[in-house]
Amino acid sequence: MGKMSDKYIEDEEERTRAVMQEDPIVKIEHWEDRIQRVWESILKLGINPNFRNPDTYVENTFLSEIWHMSTQAFEKPREIQVVVDSNDRLHISVGTPGYVEFKVDPIGMKLPIKCWIHTHPMGNAYFSGTDWTTLKTWKPMMETAIVLGDNQYWAYHLDSEIVKTVKFATLTPPPKIDYSQEVMNDYHPDTWSTKYKPKPHDWYRRNFPQYEGVDENE
Ligand SMILES: [Zn+2]
Repeated sequence: MGKMSDKYIEDEEERTRAVMQEDPIVKIEHWEDRIQRVWESILKLGINPNFRNPDTYVENTFLSEIWHMSTQAFEKPREIQVVVDSNDRLHISVGTPGYVEFKVDPIGMKLPIKCWIHTHPMGNAYFSGTDWTTLKTWKPMMETAIVLGDNQYWAYHLDSEIVKTVKFATLTPPPKIDYSQEVMNDYHPDTWSTKYKPKPHDWYRRNFPQYEGVDENE
């Protein structure tokens, strides 16, 4: 196998550019205004969101609206970026499903940036290589960064390098264990003696041999 031809690389770059320049087809008109309105209602309540540690209210209103627009406002899910500047003004942009360019207009943007919020419509909240580059570049002028995924997000404080990671999911109980019933069965007359007093982990060892030795120190 030879190395990739220059032609192939050129084509690849061309394709990338084409995707970048493709105008998103909007399904929800004025999607930016919707984010803006939610933001203004928060400010009107006198709430000063703590982007290092977003509370449930900010999650359910502002962050949820950004996620909702990212997944619903276009013909296909797209990355949305919202920059909150020092004057609490929003700078909103949209990219492709997998990328939104961090472009800020220095005119009208009051530094430092309070929070850089962007979505990962594919679902997973994490910082990509590109995201880390943005974080490193902007560190002196950016306080916090939030990446939104599907029922999950990271809220990162650049200076302390502390991240809050949130993930909502369903948790199903393990297979039903009628523990009290099993212990009672151990008291069958055939096995019953005053010497034999089964302890909880006796039952576990018989039924889950893989746990042998786990609780030896009990
Ligand atoms: Zn990202």
